[in-house]
Amino acid sequence: MAANGVSEPANVDISKTNVDQRDGYDRKCTFCRIVNEEIATELLYVDEETTCFRDIKPGAPHHYLVVPKRHVGNCKSLNKEHVLLVEKMVETGKKILQKHNVVDLSDVRFGFHWPPFCSVSHLHLHVLAPASQMGLMSRIFYRLNSYWFITADQLIQHLNSKGEAN
Ligand SMILES: [Zn+2]
Ligand SMILES: [Zn+2]
Repeated sequence: MAANGVSEPANVDISKTNVDQRDGYDRKCTFCRIVNEEIATELLYVDEETTCFRDIKPGAPHHYLVVPKRHVGNCKSLNKEHVLLVEKMVETGKKILQKHNVVDLSDVRFGFHWPPFCSVSHLHLHVLAPASQMGLMSRIFYRLNSYWFITADQLIQHLNSKGEAN
């Protein structure tokens, strides 16, 4: 209900802008190039929708990035229809942790940087573990309840409420 008269901006399908050659691939995007194996980065996991690799600047003993294989813009550009994708990304993150023997999921941070605090526009989930072993800078960079970092749960909640407002 938009009772307050504030309407959502028109939904811009980011996945169709800046995309070159193939659908869902942006050759100027670093993460698209990693997914496409044009940049030598070890892919730790690949399925039909998602892939995972290590963050080049690890903020915790385990720090993985889970990305959709198709170019999807940052979390601000998402809608309710992306909830399943975000949930899928979290599932992939959990699988990777399991594969690396991280069993305590209560000490893991799953989240996204809120624009303009994303260094790469391609949607990416940060998975950091153990959260209790993050250094001072990481604690700030991946801080809960800040205006620059949103947990996966908060994003899902936000997207669901966005859907209801339309
Ligand atoms: Zn991309
Ligand atoms: Zn980020």
